Amino acid sequence: MPTKEERRAELTAVYRQARSCTRCPELASTRTQVVFGSGNADADLMFVGEAPGAREDEQGIPFVGAAGKLLGELLAEVGLTREDVFVVNVLKCRPPGNRDPLPAEIENCSDYLMRQVELIEPRVICTLGNFATKLLRAEPTGISRLHGQAEIRVIGERAVRLYPLFHPAAALYTRSLLDTLRADFARLPGLLELALPEQPRPVEPEPAVPEPAIAAVPEPQPVSEPQPPPEGPNERQLGLF
Ligand code: URA
Repeated sequence: MPTKEERRAELTAVYRQARSCTRCPELASTRTQVVFGSGNADADLMFVGEAPGAREDEQGIPFVGAAGKLLGELLAEVGLTREDVFVVNVLKCRPPGNRDPLPAEIENCSDYLMRQVELIEPRVICTLGNFATKLLRAEPTGISRLHGQAEIRVIGERAVRLYPLFHPAAALYTRSLLDTLRADFARLPGLLELALPEQPRPVEPEPAVPEPAIAAVPEPQPVSEPQPPPEGPNERQLGLF
């Protein structure tokens, strides 16, 4: 079991990798920056939105626009703050003109999300809207049918309580959705009190193949130039408040 420090170091490594990602050439060439995620990297509660918008792309932090303000208000109503939770998106880059994420982009980005779940170890994951819900449930049922119903799901190698919610951006313009979202949020503290679901058994490692008895002759190593230290993470990301 990795320690908290090891998980944090690994999350920082994934963040550094994501920061220079070019898997989606269009997004990589139009983004201002990668929006990896922000909050408490040891949070029990994680929110997964859709993709950064213009404000998020500018600031490098998810949910800092109007939908983010509403998310903050809903959290406050249940006694939580952004510092208590970790917030990410399905896509780490802004789609131009805020268009919907493309299937290939979701696929390209999904292992960053899986690594975040593995390294942050949330107990409850709220998917905000259709894109996150369909991705993490791996099936196409829409949010209108699923919102407010928690279920145990294995994400990567971790069993969590998945709790689909309407996207706050949708609730900004439709009063009835806001009322529903608020009522669904009210059940979050109770969900957080439940025990961690039983975890799947880890896959046994393959038995090691014995080394050949012949001693290997070491390859001559090229003399490497000293490298500049990697640029540090954005302090507001990764839970480094
Ligand atoms: N909508 C999202 O899904 N994510 C953000 O970060 C902002 C708005």
